[in-house]
Amino acid sequence: MAKKNYLVTIDRNRCKGCELCVHACPKQVLAMSKDINEKGYFFATVVSQPDCIGCKFCGMSCPDSAIEVAALDEAEVAGGI
Ligand code: SF4
Ligand code: SF4
Repeated sequence: MAKKNYLVTIDRNRCKGCELCVHACPKQVLAMSKDINEKGYFFATVVSQPDCIGCKFCGMSCPDSAIEVAALDEAEVAGGI
């Protein structure tokens, strides 16, 4: 069976830089940016999208609901989303 792919989206301007999501991710998909958002916080970013297993621990850990995880079907992946 083909590996499922996931798209992780972080709303950088909702992020308060707590790093909870970075530590919650078992696959090191997320890291903190060296840039700041419009609130002045270092925000979380996606650094290793293909390693995501879709567990959603990141989204569940975020106190600001800044993270969404969506499953992509093969057609979407092939289409180059
Ligand atoms: S869904 Fe799971 S594997 Fe993917 S970025 Fe979030 S915590 Fe990491
Ligand atoms: S858990 Fe949410 S607020 Fe905290 S760093 Fe991650 S995205 Fe930002």
